[in-house]
Amino acid sequence: IKVNVTKVPVPVAYGPAYEGERVRGEQIYLECGGGRTQMVELVTTAKMDDVTDGKIELFGQDVSDMPEGSRLPLAIVVEAAGHKMNEDYEPILERQIHHLLNYAQGVMHIGQRDIAWLRIGKSAAAKGFSLKHIGSILHAKLHQDFGGIVDKIQIKLYTTPEKVAEISRQSKKIYTKRDERIEGMTDENTETFYSCTLCQSFAPSHVCIVSPERTGLCGAYNWMDCRASNEINNIGPNQPVNKGAVIDAKLGQWSGINQFVEKTSGGVVSHYNLYSIIYDPMTTCGCCECISAILPLCNGVMTVNREHTGMTPCGMKFTTLAGTIGGGITTPGFLGHSKYNITQRKFISAEDSLLRLVWMPKSLKEEIRERFNARAAELGVPDLLERIADESVGTTEEEILPFLEEKQHPALTLEPLI
Ligand code: SF4
Ligand code: ZN
Repeated sequence: IKVNVTKVPVPVAYGPAYEGERVRGEQIYLECGGGRTQMVELVTTAKMDDVTDGKIELFGQDVSDMPEGSRLPLAIVVEAAGHKMNEDYEPILERQIHHLLNYAQGVMHIGQRDIAWLRIGKSAAAKGFSLKHIGSILHAKLHQDFGGIVDKIQIKLYTTPEKVAEISRQSKKIYTKRDERIEGMTDENTETFYSCTLCQSFAPSHVCIVSPERTGLCGAYNWMDCRASNEINNIGPNQPVNKGAVIDAKLGQWSGINQFVEKTSGGVVSHYNLYSIIYDPMTTCGCCECISAILPLCNGVMTVNREHTGMTPCGMKFTTLAGTIGGGITTPGFLGHSKYNITQRKFISAEDSLLRLVWMPKSLKEEIRERFNARAAELGVPDLLERIADESVGTTEEEILPFLEEKQHPALTLEPLI
């Protein structure tokens, strides 16, 4: 464990002690992202000559320009240069933004990529916390923690809607490219998976196991990213884990994974399955991009993404679901996962994969449509997406069942889920 020696130049207290602190409704001074406005985070590699180390620029309005209780869109763009810096390391640096901003007292950060969410509390605003301090934090801490790969860091922050939208569009393309680097790899042909324990600071018993066909549930880390992270820091949160002997190929359980999870969860979780939502599914820390839940009446499974704030047919909204299952304990019938994972071949493959999916929000359908249709065609039901209900059909099992029957959704003829 590295000792924190660098003083971070911000007007609020700073350190891991503040990580779990929340900024609730009545304490909010300024809010960005979280479905209220657009917010996006991106780390990119730049040439040494193009970066002025420590340069922090804000384009648009700052905290002090806004009245209490305001909202602004926000894009955080970090440009990193260094002889060892390369594209592979970008997602790792980017994922640090989450805990590094949470370390600031009176600042709360949730999510990542283009679903990030930031709250600056009244106490922090009163002490003079500016959006530029986000840059100060990232500059100081990324130098400190990743000094081995980055030499120069500059940060640009944007709060005008047009610019944030433009950066979101650019970022989406980059995220897609990152996600697709693992296409073609299979779990069967890969002996070593990776762990991620970055989220243990607030979910102490949670361990993500990241395999080629199951990306990290936050959507920020895939197998390649974990490998790159381990290259940077071989005693860090991403360790290679040898699968070991197969215990159950269908459910996705291996002896080596179990041993690692048991040890690393402090004995709380003795085993879990990578491919099932019913039988001892993987735990979640609460960062998941999506949560799936079983719908017994429909003999299927629903999934909801974090941005969807409405009710879902399992009787809970996303926030309630995340609060219920996000503690790092196995909860049969519920599963935290990334958006990308929905269209990976091992997504709930123990329960017939996408053929079980009976409900998902319209916006999520649109977002993953292309990859979804390709996967559905592989499963022999090319028009599956059109047979899946969404909030326009209903938000209870009773409301969506007639639609599924009319569309002859394949889940209705599969063997009983429970
Ligand atoms: Fe790592 Fe999992 Fe947390 Fe993502 S959700 S940062 S993969 S522990
Ligand atoms: Zn997490």
